Amino acid sequence: MPVKNRFAELLPEITAWRREFHENPELLYEVHRTAGRVAGLLREFGVDEVVEGVGRTGVVGVIRGKTDTRGRVIGLRADMDALPITEQTGAAHASRTPGVMHACGHDGHTAMLLGAAKYLAETRNFDGTAIVIFQPAEEGGAGGQAMVQDGLVDRWGIQEFYGMHNMPGIPTGTFAIREGAMMAAADQFQITVTGKGGHAAKPHDCIDTALVAAQIIVAMQSVVSRNVDPLKSGVISICVIETDSTASNVIPHVVVLKGTCRSLDPAVRDQLEQGVTRVAEGVAATFGATAQVAYERGYPVTVNHPDATVHAADVARAIAGDVDMEVAPMMGGEDFSYMLNERPGAYIFVGNGDTAMVHHPAYDFDDNAIPAGSSWYAGMAEARMPAA
Ligand SMILES: [Zn+2]
Ligand SMILES: [Zn+2]
Repeated sequence: MPVKNRFAELLPEITAWRREFHENPELLYEVHRTAGRVAGLLREFGVDEVVEGVGRTGVVGVIRGKTDTRGRVIGLRADMDALPITEQTGAAHASRTPGVMHACGHDGHTAMLLGAAKYLAETRNFDGTAIVIFQPAEEGGAGGQAMVQDGLVDRWGIQEFYGMHNMPGIPTGTFAIREGAMMAAADQFQITVTGKGGHAAKPHDCIDTALVAAQIIVAMQSVVSRNVDPLKSGVISICVIETDSTASNVIPHVVVLKGTCRSLDPAVRDQLEQGVTRVAEGVAATFGATAQVAYERGYPVTVNHPDATVHAADVARAIAGDVDMEVAPMMGGEDFSYMLNERPGAYIFVGNGDTAMVHHPAYDFDDNAIPAGSSWYAGMAEARMPAA
């Protein structure tokens, strides 16, 4: 089975949707126009149930197969939001909203899943229920988590989740995946070091927070190098140093350090959080200062379940021939992780060819990936719920 023939026929229509979304990008939860258009199209396709406002502005479509003898329910997910970036593609379908751009290809994901929904509603050649999920706020707003908290899993009884992201640098229309961690957990922290400011010529009357902060930064390097298993991955980067002194002859009273932790393994994530706190508090105490650590967890690790990875790759292989099963994980975050934390499933890359990387102002989704992407979404429903 190469690309489903129907998607070659539907390509102009799906491309037109994609470019329409691209021209009208919206941020985070403010995807009102996009969500309205998605819901309207799903109704036009004859999807059995269309529910708007799930997780604030998410849309869910329910497509029942010809039969339902085993109660199978498969969730297929796309994201709808854009980024606060000024587009530089010069494309005819470039953004009409200044400073907002579909620079991560979520316009493509939404269009491809709409194409799959149209096909599935036409053919219904499966035994069970396909749930098409269009989420808001993937770019930092945790829209996937909002949909889960709004009852996504239990309301529709979803048993498995499948998601996709386009990826520049991978040949267009081919697929890449890996079992286990695919995308990183991305956390942030802020350390407030408080000592005793004063005259730079009288350090013995002060507790020098600049010295303490420097010691913390150096000691922090030991967490990844000395605490984390060398065969696993972790990153701690301290990227901002602010003091309350603006003069070269005043010892600062307070220094604030800001940074990020990245990890691919829940145990390593815990180790990094504990390490940041332990080192900051311990080093500060050594010098008679105090460190207050505010650690904020972002998206969890996106973990592909072993069986689901095989299922996802089998469908991809039937479309594209070979599938890269050992693609390197990426240290970016992805909130499909919240769905994969609820139920088994997998997240796959579809190649977007030799273009600028996602989040770059010159990035554009390659419409030639649409037949492969739509075929994969539809194929996951058909393969996981074979016709009775
Ligand atoms: Zn993105
Ligand atoms: Zn994205």
